[in-house]
Amino acid sequence: MVHGDEQGLVLPPRIAPTQVVLIPVGPWKKNPAIMEKLDEVFAQLKAKGIRVRLDDSDQSPGYKFNEWELKGVPVRVELGPRDLENNQALMKARDEGEKVAVDLANLVASIEQELQTMQTRLLEKARAFRAEHSHTHIDDLEGLKKHITDSTEKEEIPGWILAGWCGDDACEDNVKEETKFTTRNIPFNPPAEKSTCINCGNEAKHTVWFARAY
Ligand SMILES: [Zn+2]
Repeated sequence: MVHGDEQGLVLPPRIAPTQVVLIPVGPWKKNPAIMEKLDEVFAQLKAKGIRVRLDDSDQSPGYKFNEWELKGVPVRVELGPRDLENNQALMKARDEGEKVAVDLANLVASIEQELQTMQTRLLEKARAFRAEHSHTHIDDLEGLKKHITDSTEKEEIPGWILAGWCGDDACEDNVKEETKFTTRNIPFNPPAEKSTCINCGNEAKHTVWFARAY
């Protein structure tokens, strides 16, 4: 959910059901060497435990690119006659705009490397996003409502709110009813300790992250 874009899903490599898709391009059916090479790469990736698909369906390359991007497959590899002549393939990470040319000799290693790099890249992006949308200054329901109104006006998400909670279910329920915010987790080391419950103002037993579920 955090990583999607206009083209659809962006799945972190570790959780992606398919991590790599191999797609023959150009007049590949007239050039058996292309599928031979892709079969070889497929087998090598599979042997390394990488979840790989080879799309040799009759759809156009453009259709396949869109389809696999929509599904969030992390890495796409294209191989056509001209690439083969140049001893290279084109590789594209789902979250990056540009394709890169990779030597066929290093293709499997490059794919492995890209899966790792992308995993870290997405995690860092998600952390930065969360930090940017975390708020620790809200102490009561009125403050939270104002924050929601302000965020909406700025067309920003209201994000995550660190707030105190007395532990009473009725307070949690009321926060949810009034703001649609629910408790997400109780951090071990919160960035701030909250002394009063966001709903009733009594002593807080916990300092909790609240957010809206989407
Ligand atoms: Zn309370």
